[in-house]
Amino acid sequence: MAGDADGAERMRSLASVRRAREREREKRKGGVQEQARIAREVVIPDVITVGELANRMATRGVEVIKFLMRQGVMLKINDVIDNDTAELVATEFGHTVKRVSEADVEEGFIGAEDIDDHLEPRPPVVTVMGHVDHGKTSLLDALRSTDVVAGEHGGITQHIGAYQVRLENGQAVTFLDTPGHAAFSAMRMRGANVTDIVVLVVAADDGVMPQTVEAINHARSAGAPIIVAINKIDKPGADPTRVINELLQHEIVVESLGGDTQAIEVSATQKLGLDDLIEAILLQAEVLDLKANPDRTADGVVIEAKLDRGRGAVSTVLVKRGTLKRGDIVVAGDTFGRVRALLNERGEQLDSAGPSVPVEVLGLDGTPAPGEPFAVVENEARARELTAYRVRVKREKSGSPVAGASLADMMARLADKKVSELPLVIKADVQGSAEAIVGSLDKLATDEVRARIILSGAGAISESDVMLAKGAGSPIIGFNVRASKQAQALAEREGVEIRYYAIIYDLIDDIKGVLSGMLAPIQRETFLGNAEVLQVFDITKVGRVAGCRVTEGVVRKGARVRIIRQDVVVLELGTLQTLKRFKDEVNEVNAGQECGMHFGFQDIKVGDTIECFTLEEVKRSL
Ligand code: GDP
Ligand code: MG
Repeated sequence: MAGDADGAERMRSLASVRRAREREREKRKGGVQEQARIAREVVIPDVITVGELANRMATRGVEVIKFLMRQGVMLKINDVIDNDTAELVATEFGHTVKRVSEADVEEGFIGAEDIDDHLEPRPPVVTVMGHVDHGKTSLLDALRSTDVVAGEHGGITQHIGAYQVRLENGQAVTFLDTPGHAAFSAMRMRGANVTDIVVLVVAADDGVMPQTVEAINHARSAGAPIIVAINKIDKPGADPTRVINELLQHEIVVESLGGDTQAIEVSATQKLGLDDLIEAILLQAEVLDLKANPDRTADGVVIEAKLDRGRGAVSTVLVKRGTLKRGDIVVAGDTFGRVRALLNERGEQLDSAGPSVPVEVLGLDGTPAPGEPFAVVENEARARELTAYRVRVKREKSGSPVAGASLADMMARLADKKVSELPLVIKADVQGSAEAIVGSLDKLATDEVRARIILSGAGAISESDVMLAKGAGSPIIGFNVRASKQAQALAEREGVEIRYYAIIYDLIDDIKGVLSGMLAPIQRETFLGNAEVLQVFDITKVGRVAGCRVTEGVVRKGARVRIIRQDVVVLELGTLQTLKRFKDEVNEVNAGQECGMHFGFQDIKVGDTIECFTLEEVKRSL
């Protein structure tokens, strides 16, 4: 729908520009001559800001703005115009145009490979994975305390999705502090992609469990070496040998068995073996020879992003290479902004952040998705160009698919009609939660019912969310967020339901219930009896009445009937409206007895069999 509006707008402005161009030509014929210009070849991408277009034409921005204004298009220097409009402007200014394709805009976003002689060692980035309750959170908490700077500076106080532990020898280790919940596996998977090393936590009293295996697969697919942390060795039932043997079945051979995977016995709660674990990480890092060039424009990956009431959009990013500085212009996904502040996990303001350093970035104009690459770009025009392009691509992707013309397409569409969809607007505290919720809801989808996500994102529920939900006839799900006062009032006025949740399972359960309710119930048929038509009467005002004998079972008033003629069903699913014995209305007639029947249909003949049955609706659940 947004796409349509946009299209219409584009056409309108295009048409008006075209008309105006004609007018301009007419005028010029009358003698008004533009001042001579040097003709250039202007490269025009799909979207371009007015300023950048002026730049490329070697004209002042105001000239272009004035020109557009004369065509009745009011735009500012940083507004984005599409390529058609840009081309008209450029040709009007006497230049030739070279259009470049859509994706060219993306070119150079992440810069070229680092050159070898600029590389410097960087800290390893570590993700802790493992089965639920094996102690991931506890271990991440315990590792924080190994930070030597903690004592002097108050330690790690903020949860920013990642933290760096600094060691006595000046080295550092970066830990991704991603949630270990099963529903977050989507994010965790991305976590593995920025991860150099995976610490696989296995509880010594529990051994290898399903999510342990899942974590092993994640690590493998990310090409990250594994260090096994055999946790909870303080417990009486701890059996590290069992863990080692079980890992063998998943082709993880630890050093003590002649393999090359380090296994360290730890206790997160008793803080045992933590130094050994750090040691193992540093050793593994040395083997990996991790290096990056700090002296270049920064790029990296978004770890998480949230909307903060006081501070606006706050994104935690991990710098992969280069150095991110305050004042840099950063693009992440379809968001961008000038870096207003950089904060570390201790809440300290930084001027810059180098390779492997996780920092909170303030100043982006939205919350990019976790896992989204970010990069510093040369100027705001470039940032706008990139993000405008990405917004468009995203919109096109999420918009209704272009109607296909093939039979397969048509059948798919027809089949689609049978699907009942539950539209939902989902707002969560952090983008990662929103994604996890959407991921879990996707898993509930069947051939018949599914949730259709109108919007999912991080931040409080706004008035525009309510409007959107109203338009789609959808309720709004708030996960650890609330609606603003205005949004609340609007929702009440418009009758849009807002449901709040704090626990993801509750949310999923509820939606599951709703989707189950949307499953069309199965109709179960129960045979009641047969009657044979002996005579047919036409009775004025009533219609055809059949005189019958019940041959089998029972016939019941209000029950369903179908007419069978020579063993073929000729009429289906009327109801038995009138049932009489002699002159009296009765509710049922048993086998062997005669009766008069009247139903919703007229085509009835002597010798027909009337089958009488009930239909029962049986509810189904997912
Ligand atoms: P997660 O689900 O993997 O994040 O696991 P948690 O860190 O939440 O730990 C699950 C439970 O195990 C908690 O009750 C912890 O206190 C406990 N736990 C974690 N590590 C240890 C340990 O080293 N020893 C003992 N005895 N308990 C532990
Ligand atoms: Mg946990």
